Amino acid sequence: MTSLAHTRADFPALNQNVGAHPLVYLDNAATSQKPRAVIDAISRYYERDNSNVHRGLHALSMRSTDGYEAARKRTAQFINAADPAEIIFTRGTTESVNLVAQSWGAANLRAGDVILLTEMEHHSNLVPWQQIAQRTGATLRYVPVAGENAQHGLDLDALDKLLTPEVKLFAFTHISNTLGVINPVAELCARAKKVGALTLVDAAQSIGHEPLDVRALDCDFLAFSGHKMCGPTGIGVLYGRRALLDAMPPWQGGGGMITSVEYFNTTYKPSPERYEAGTPDVSGAIGLHAAMDYLDAIGRPLIAGHDNSLAAQARAALAELPGIRILGPEQNSKRGGLVSFAFNEVHAHDVVTFADQDGVALRGGHHCNQPLMRKLGLSSTTRASFYIYNTPEEIDALIKSLHKILKFFGS
Ligand code: PMP
Repeated sequence: MTSLAHTRADFPALNQNVGAHPLVYLDNAATSQKPRAVIDAISRYYERDNSNVHRGLHALSMRSTDGYEAARKRTAQFINAADPAEIIFTRGTTESVNLVAQSWGAANLRAGDVILLTEMEHHSNLVPWQQIAQRTGATLRYVPVAGENAQHGLDLDALDKLLTPEVKLFAFTHISNTLGVINPVAELCARAKKVGALTLVDAAQSIGHEPLDVRALDCDFLAFSGHKMCGPTGIGVLYGRRALLDAMPPWQGGGGMITSVEYFNTTYKPSPERYEAGTPDVSGAIGLHAAMDYLDAIGRPLIAGHDNSLAAQARAALAELPGIRILGPEQNSKRGGLVSFAFNEVHAHDVVTFADQDGVALRGGHHCNQPLMRKLGLSSTTRASFYIYNTPEEIDALIKSLHKILKFFGS
């Protein structure tokens, strides 16, 4: 494994004790820590350039606007979008999905249409589709998650039967936040295209870990959050093909998205402005820009290899523990940088609470995957998720803590 341990010094929050123990931060799938470069970019913006964007002609407003639009350009480059106008800044993955559901969905879906999802979707790529299905009369279908023996991948044989011409949109996650499964995005997009369905990729769990190229994947929409990729909270991205974005109606109204307003009528700007009503999160976009620069300076292929080998190490060590059920693929190449597990005898909330006493930050619960949990016959799992700055020694600390917990509970 390539050691990226040198990056630890870039993250001020990692340099602390929790109780008597050094922090072992393994909750990266929930949110990542922020490097100094991102924190400084945000501070610099507020110290020097802070002003509202787009509507001002003074120096600070022009600098803010330049910074905001440079972040848009950088984002387009980061995912290889053809045009910065295909990048809409949102609050995060959740808002990006809601935007598509409420704008494209409300305008294009009707009774008889089908929205295809998978059984492993995060609530944020499920609830917005339920809501728009209820409003439009469209119905939902789900691609099944295969059983434990098939390592919880998507049942791709079932896909042909599900992908009928009634399917207008297929929305799916790239990497499952609970199973760690990596889905074959390009293949899923190609198969959807054959029946004329649009595709939306939830890249929340993949964007900060590996290179993503929307043109190579050939997806129609792609959603992600800044905070899981070293960026700040409150900023996210919706990528959409330009022709789709220009044809969709706005979803929120307000300043910045209009060309002309009369008392009874409004005309709208093209994308991206038409989807960004009101003052945007300028400092968030600038922080996200710094995060993308930071990740690319390390190299996303290196990050992917690093996170993946930590997950492999964790999975192998966890498998030695008694009474444990580990979710997701055994095969390393099919797993992202996280491992989810459940003990027969100890509840996930107890695991997380006890691990915290050793300074190990984990997450326990349903991970916004309630239907999947029910299907798997679980109420919760414990999840350890890895990023650039994690080390093999931290996995040893995790396993040591879990041994203590199991001993305490008499397992
Ligand atoms: N999709 C997946 C796969 C996720 O893991 C998450 C975050 N847990 C989201 C969507 C939602 O992201 P956000 O809360 O940043 O909108």
